[in-house]
Amino acid sequence: MEPYFDIVIVGGGPAGLTAAIYARRAGKSVLLLEKESFGGQIASAPKVENFPGLPAVSGAELADRLYGQAESLGARIELEEVLEIRDGTPKRVVTDYGAYAAGAVILAVGMRRRTLGLPGEDGLAGISYCAVCDGAFYAGQDAAVAGGGNTAFQDALYLADICRHVTLIHRRDSFRADPILVAQAAERGNLTLLPSTVVEGLESAGGRLSGLMLRNTETGEASHLPVSALFQAVGQLPESRLAQSLGIPVDGAGFIAAGEDCATPVPGVFAAGDIRAKGVRQLTTACADGAVAALAACRICSQRA
Ligand code: NAP
Repeated sequence: MEPYFDIVIVGGGPAGLTAAIYARRAGKSVLLLEKESFGGQIASAPKVENFPGLPAVSGAELADRLYGQAESLGARIELEEVLEIRDGTPKRVVTDYGAYAAGAVILAVGMRRRTLGLPGEDGLAGISYCAVCDGAFYAGQDAAVAGGGNTAFQDALYLADICRHVTLIHRRDSFRADPILVAQAAERGNLTLLPSTVVEGLESAGGRLSGLMLRNTETGEASHLPVSALFQAVGQLPESRLAQSLGIPVDGAGFIAAGEDCATPVPGVFAAGDIRAKGVRQLTTACADGAVAALAACRICSQRA
């Protein structure tokens, strides 16, 4: 027989790990499944400065702490990819390793990264999506960051401590990043902000990135920027495959249309964190969703017991 858990959580980011903490404290059996690495996007954040009570902590440390807290409370945590979820009583969660039965399921599947989709970017040395992971390879060299959000600015500030010079390239003339980050970047002597500019192509030498072909979107002027690395921080796309396979509606952008109660139209299936359609995607709101979804899932399990 397949192992049964009161609550199966899909996704090991802040929403999923918070859900595990709440569900274990409520005495439910919990299985958390993650396909790649724990902590979600936060794990690659150089510095988290807006989590209440922790004025400054690295994303990796915060992810470790969340993981440790869920594990020490008795959540079973596995690195397995969920391939399919079948509705029913119990629900059936099929992974690349096996299958589990679940009283309730929490989808905390988050987002996957968007790329610029430039010709030749796949596998080219010098193209990266994680400044914390790869920044040290470009110590003392010139690097660029593409994007105008909080991730791009945090990455650029992190790289400015390591690299000789960093250029932040953004397609519009205003940034969506928090003003405090934009102000910090503007003060850095070795960080140049290049708004209204798009990366049109990559130049390489010996299988490594050597420069970027740029175009100013206002003047149409083309230019060339020699760099050893391009860090792409152009946002994420929702991981809506599992929701769609369960028949759960997603909005035009692919986010699960669940309200503040995190309940989806499929009874016993909840959506928590960045995958849920909402206005504010932050660490704190992901954790809040995890708590709300877990407590609602606990109520369903108790009603059935
Ligand atoms: P984001 O806020 O969605 O920003 C993505 C950036 O990439 C935007 O500036 C966007 O430009 C640009 N972009 C998108 N597609 C592009 C394309 N095809 N070509 C060029 N540029 C493109 O993503 P994020 O920065 O990763 O942040 C995700 C969420 O996490 C946000 O809610 C953010 O606030 C949160 N976060 C918070 C912190 C924090 O410390 N508070 C840190 C990291 C992330 P446009 O602006 O023109 O759309």
